[in-house]
Amino acid sequence: MKHLHASCESGLVRVPLIAVIKHTGTNRHNHIPAGAECVSPEPALSLSKGRKSWVDCRDSPSPEGTTQFFSDLLEPSTRIGNFLFLLTMCLIVLLAAPACSKQKNASAETTVEAPSANSASTPAPATSDSAAPPSFDSSRAMQYVKEIVAFGPRPNGSENHRRVEKYILSHLKGLDVEQDDFEVTPSEGRFPIHNIIAKFPGSKDGIIVMASHYDTNWPLRNIPYIGANDGASSSALLLEIANQLRGKKLEGYSLWLLWDDGEESMRLPWYDPESLYGVRHLAQKWQDDGTLKKVKAFILEDMIGDADLNIDRIIECTPWLEDLVLDAATRTGYQSHFFARQISAEDDYRPFEDRGVPSVDIIDFEYGYNNVFWHTTEDTVDKLSPKSLAIVGTVTLETVRLLNQR
Ligand SMILES: [Zn+2]
Repeated sequence: MKHLHASCESGLVRVPLIAVIKHTGTNRHNHIPAGAECVSPEPALSLSKGRKSWVDCRDSPSPEGTTQFFSDLLEPSTRIGNFLFLLTMCLIVLLAAPACSKQKNASAETTVEAPSANSASTPAPATSDSAAPPSFDSSRAMQYVKEIVAFGPRPNGSENHRRVEKYILSHLKGLDVEQDDFEVTPSEGRFPIHNIIAKFPGSKDGIIVMASHYDTNWPLRNIPYIGANDGASSSALLLEIANQLRGKKLEGYSLWLLWDDGEESMRLPWYDPESLYGVRHLAQKWQDDGTLKKVKAFILEDMIGDADLNIDRIIECTPWLEDLVLDAATRTGYQSHFFARQISAEDDYRPFEDRGVPSVDIIDFEYGYNNVFWHTTEDTVDKLSPKSLAIVGTVTLETVRLLNQR
């Protein structure tokens, strides 16, 4: 993927309250220098104010207790001045009590809406609309990552690339698979591009597309760069999701899994006209044949295997869909891995987002301190964790379930 810049941007209102609470409630993201300043402390402050109001109100005496207390004081020997003073005090307390109780209700509502930071490490309790968490075999997905990188570097036009294509297709036997093949002519020559789409029909009119690129960078073809996280992890994730979907009747939108090709730039530094070939071609093709208007959401997976998993929120993506992903993460108990940081990033989602398709980029763009492993020979399997694949796989499938309920 191509990165523009990590930034603290003005649209902080788009950072949901629960992300703010999680961020301020733990220290696990302290190593992220950009994210540390990216979150406004305001919502967390207003919440703590609300809690304080609640405690203050609860500590106030009840109206009944107050009346009894003052009547005990009013012995026959009490002077008239004291009586008037106490009567005034009594009225103040009686008037203040309902107002205080109103404040308590308001602050209690705030507390209910904001999930506790403690819930980050435990699955969300089942609610009336939540089914069992989707299943995902992370050890099998991890095995796929190892098998993909075992082919070696897989730049466009290479024998290794052809082997990975065959490998992906071999896992999709018996499914409805479309191959979208074409050629491109960047300055480096002529290259075949092969998008692979596995289609799972649903009962509802509309399509959800889930995508991952599988190529590695042409300019890095002569070094042992295998893209374990960048390209292999997300492609393996989709293969495992295909396993989960196989043979099931989908009670919702159709699901199309897309392994897109020619994503990485043919030149470094990144060069827009010679990158994102597969998705640019497909978005245009689907626009021309009318498919695009049926696409309800485009969910991109990229660099999702990092053992230290911190999925970034992408400024250019669709806010409501990102909120839905966060909702899915919260429901499955994984929200501490999502959206502590908000960044700007270009990626495969772009041609779809530009055409009005709601899009989300599920990406962790801090791969090693300061992203030091990205596009280097250090992008290897030992940096990854099956747990991260499980988190992203589960949250993605839960997002699909929530999309189907909309
Ligand atoms: Zn890349």
